[in-house]
Amino acid sequence: MSGTHSNNNAFRLPAEIVEQCELAQRIVRKELLPLEPEFLPHPGHSFGLKETINLKSVFGEEKTNHLIKIARDTGLWYLMVPEEFGGSGLPMLAQVAILEQFYYTAVPFPFANVPNILYECQGDQIERFLKPVIEGEKTTCFAQTEPNAGSDPGGMMQTRAVKKGDHWVLNGTKMWISMAAESDIIMVQAVTDPEKRQRGGITMFLVNRDNPGVHIEAGGIKTWLGLRAAQYTVHFKDCIVPETDVLGEVGKGFYLGQRWLTVHDRLLRGPYALGKMQRALDMSIDWAKQRITFGKPLSERQAIQWKIVDMFVDLEALRALTYQMAARSDAGEDIRAEAGMVKFTSMEWGARCVDHAIQIHGAMGEALELPLTLFYRYLRHGQIGGGANEIQRMQVARKLLKG
Ligand SMILES: Cc1cc2nc3c(=O)[nH]c(=O)nc-3n(C[C@H](O)[C@H](O)[C@H](O)COP(=O)(O)OP(=O)(O)OC[C@H]3O[C@@H](n4cnc5c(N)ncnc54)[C@H](O)[C@@H]3O)c2cc1C
Repeated sequence: MSGTHSNNNAFRLPAEIVEQCELAQRIVRKELLPLEPEFLPHPGHSFGLKETINLKSVFGEEKTNHLIKIARDTGLWYLMVPEEFGGSGLPMLAQVAILEQFYYTAVPFPFANVPNILYECQGDQIERFLKPVIEGEKTTCFAQTEPNAGSDPGGMMQTRAVKKGDHWVLNGTKMWISMAAESDIIMVQAVTDPEKRQRGGITMFLVNRDNPGVHIEAGGIKTWLGLRAAQYTVHFKDCIVPETDVLGEVGKGFYLGQRWLTVHDRLLRGPYALGKMQRALDMSIDWAKQRITFGKPLSERQAIQWKIVDMFVDLEALRALTYQMAARSDAGEDIRAEAGMVKFTSMEWGARCVDHAIQIHGAMGEALELPLTLFYRYLRHGQIGGGANEIQRMQVARKLLKG
């Protein structure tokens, strides 16, 4: 592994963060990279909350528990958890730098990756929902998209929740919900005031997957992210949810969802892409030096050198952008639009960078025993999932042009 922040610390990260980065690198090299050949034929959707489920499905309990033990012994399990819940309390910049190291490999490292809106839990919700998710005993999925509501959920959402006495009754259909069948808690958005919709009329509910009003379509929807389906259509039929299971305030659920997606999810796409881009660059340099055509290594051909240079430029530019936005977020700035910029640049530049690596590797670039095509699929998917690139650009345009 090369080019990491231990020797390229432009942001002057404190020594203890550099040490954490180096620890992450050692774990990747010693524990995760050796597992990659076994993982690559059965990839799961590795970004987000489901690392442990993916690991268990591929490697079984023993190997997964070994990795979980490393995560817990080193404290990395709590990397992204706020201090008040036993976490590291590290600023976003430090988290980004450490996460980048883990995304060097396709094999996910298990840690408590809690959707940050769950920290809105109040009263006994903390014991029933939040703490089990932090400890990895329960997992969540996020249900916003519907068959006719993707980019414009606020305007098009049909799922309704109606208050009856001390509970709510949910009816509607959500689609494309990642890992719904494997999750214990579904964080569902539903319209509670059709007049107000996204301006105070959408509420977030915490719904147990085994609620009798929840029906998950068998088989799920298969995509090119993995051989097994990981996205599901979920029907809510007269689904009764106690009023105590509203997350945050009634009517504020759209705002909550956007807050999670804008900062947590979008900014963290940066390190997710950076690790993959660094790996693709390292692999390409190694391959170009040893692959001989017409009597010379590929590394001596200008056409190949320029691809490698372009990959390096994308990587350095994305790193500068991501780290800058993380630092600005830590300073309390409103970076909602900028986080969208990190999302679409990381996915576009990342896919472009990995595409060069595939080309440099020739036929080997297409071989599933290398991680390159999987990296490409993940990064290309990220140009749609979690809010498509066009929608991110709309937000940046709004910020630039509103004055
Ligand atoms: C693998 C996968 C996993 C997913 N996981 C989840 C999940 O866990 N939970 C969840 O809620 N959703 C999930 N989604 C749904 C995802 O968030 C939506 O697919 C995404 O927001 C885009 O919505 P859409 O597919 O309806 O596209 P549409 O809204 O139909 O848009 C189609 C295209 O048109 C563009 N477009 C739309 N409006 C405009 C405009 N005004 N100007 C210019 N271009 C525009 C879009 O950017 C897009 O490129 C997942 C999707 C996939 C593929």
